[in-house]
Amino acid sequence: MQKGNIGITTENIFPVIKKFLYSDHEIFLREIVSNAVDATQKLKTLAMKGDFKGELGDLTVRVSVDKDAKTLTISDRGIGMTAEEIDKYINQIAFSGANDFLEKYKDDASAIIGHFGLGFYSSFMVADRVDIITRSYQDGAKGVKWTCDGSPAFEIDDCEKADRGTDIVLHISDDCVEFLEKNKIQELLTKYCRFLPVPIAFGKQTEWKDGKEVETEKDNIVNDTTPLWTKTPSTLKDEDYKKFYRELYPMADEPLFWIHLNVDYPFNLTGVLYFPRIKSNLDVHRNKIQLYCNQVFVTDQVENIVPDFLTLLHGVIDSPDIPLNVSRSYLQSDSNVKKISSYITKKVSDRLQSIFKTDRKDFEQKWDDLKLFIHYGMLSEPDFYDKAKTYALFKDVDGKFFTYDEYRDLIKDAQTDKDGNLIYLYATNKEEQYAYIETAKSKGYSVLLLDGQLDTAMVSMLEQKFEKSRFSRVDGDVIDRIIRKEDEKKEQLAAEDVAALDGAFTAILPQVDKAQFHVEAVAMGEQAAPVVITQSEYMRRMKDASRYQQGMSFYGEMPDMYNVVLNSDHRLVKGILDDMKVSVKDQIAPIENELKGMRARHAALESEQKDKKPEDLTDAEKDDMKKCNDDIANLENKRKEVWANYGKGNKIASQLVDLALLQNGLLRGEALNKFVNRSVELIK
Ligand code: ADP
Repeated sequence: MQKGNIGITTENIFPVIKKFLYSDHEIFLREIVSNAVDATQKLKTLAMKGDFKGELGDLTVRVSVDKDAKTLTISDRGIGMTAEEIDKYINQIAFSGANDFLEKYKDDASAIIGHFGLGFYSSFMVADRVDIITRSYQDGAKGVKWTCDGSPAFEIDDCEKADRGTDIVLHISDDCVEFLEKNKIQELLTKYCRFLPVPIAFGKQTEWKDGKEVETEKDNIVNDTTPLWTKTPSTLKDEDYKKFYRELYPMADEPLFWIHLNVDYPFNLTGVLYFPRIKSNLDVHRNKIQLYCNQVFVTDQVENIVPDFLTLLHGVIDSPDIPLNVSRSYLQSDSNVKKISSYITKKVSDRLQSIFKTDRKDFEQKWDDLKLFIHYGMLSEPDFYDKAKTYALFKDVDGKFFTYDEYRDLIKDAQTDKDGNLIYLYATNKEEQYAYIETAKSKGYSVLLLDGQLDTAMVSMLEQKFEKSRFSRVDGDVIDRIIRKEDEKKEQLAAEDVAALDGAFTAILPQVDKAQFHVEAVAMGEQAAPVVITQSEYMRRMKDASRYQQGMSFYGEMPDMYNVVLNSDHRLVKGILDDMKVSVKDQIAPIENELKGMRARHAALESEQKDKKPEDLTDAEKDDMKKCNDDIANLENKRKEVWANYGKGNKIASQLVDLALLQNGLLRGEALNKFVNRSVELIK
């Protein structure tokens, strides 16, 4: 027997591993099983090259638990190790600068394990003693047993071993007894070893016999050795891809499309990515891409490896070229990772483009499910935008689809305003904005339906990207002011008339919670509606944005601002104005007279005082000015009151306002009740 110390410079690495890597310690099983698989693959390679002439036989890697002995054993029939090899590969592990490294990466188990080639030693995270019982494949090799209790001291001795290969026996420590549970091991094998390229058996399959669960002769193989992504795409059918997807995500809906990735230069990468149906909520579907390294599961946290928007995809990526055993922050700056990331982005984009080109109908049908994903990509990755802009679609309110270029050509003539800006009209809700959509259509305009989660952000971006273009929701203003045309010079009302209408209508607007109304009069043509309620595009967008952007809560708390636009061309509005002028004449005339006098006085005072500095004005002069201003304000209020009283008594005015509110879903509660009662009264 031989004794010795493992060649590490740090006095005792194992307590460090145990302490710092606690959270990740289940990966020990992945490491040990991968080693067994590697040893098996190496033997197969030797056999292929003719360097191993014996029988390969059954190469299944076997995992077993012995609860009484408190051991977990992983056995393979791979190349095994000679005593010299154990010394070289297990004892002499190089630890250069171990202390510094441990300090830096103490929270990152994979980094430490990867850095030191500690795969095998990770077993000490769960075991307080580990035995290696091994026999090399080489002719005449003898069995060797190595044993170590987690201190740098180890023992190595000859032993009997009938068969070629290696048994790793983990004597599970008392605080890790969960790893003696069958279910736990099954779970870990399924997680990490599900697609390993050599069969892994964990006990026997069971069946029900006479009301009891009994073991059969058949091995319980936990893995699929040739998962879909390792196969040649041309040999696969749609059903194969769908079936694999169901295996990966039993609860998900059928995927929309998939991409089979396959590169070997300048890096190695295979995989299959699926486009899931994403309807809403960007976060729910994250972390569905599984990352493998030579069929060994590594992680399902692929941020930093693929661009953010691609984390919405599902599927598998397998690459030995992603440096997995490094810290996450390092990944971002790694040039291989960057190349891989942009390769995947390009592939995804190419695939979408080819579906669009070869089967546009299909693409259109799936657009509603795809658009969140595509929009997210366009918003977050400039490279993706540049490709996607050729196949990203607009959908109009009638369900017709257009590419960006097609749509621009469609609206170019009709929807360019007098300043040469192209105006894109859109609705966010076909039902709620029905009347506005109809008004726009009656002018020969096209209206887009932008009801997606990311459409507000898309609109802002497209306004930057498209030249001389603006987006406006159909109810952002009256249509002729959204798209202003040169020739339409309509008669606008005189200022006093506008003031009179304002006074009368403001008085009859209901109090709506969190809403503010502002009345104005615009000549919209005799055919247009008498009263239209619009909502400022700018304010609405700010409020929308405040919902998902930080630092904008100021906008979120502002009331909704509506314009109540009276159509001064409409006969009913004209009728109200004419009637008002006659009915309030006697009340208004004296006020107007007085106002006129006051204004004259104000003007006189102003010209007297205009050359004096404020500090040179006498108190009397200041008082005069103040009194004059107050008088004017009082008179204006009085006049307003007259108009207001008139408005309150005019049922037609109330009816018109209520109808417009009703059309916007703003008439509720008491106001709605009043409207109904008034309507009944008016039906003669
Ligand atoms: P890595 O696998 O990254 O090289 P490990 O610490 O896991 O690091 O293993 C060190 C070496 O020990 C392996 O490279 C291999 O040569 C040898 N080894 C480990 N397990 C086995 C095994 N089951 N059969 C044969 N050799 C093994």
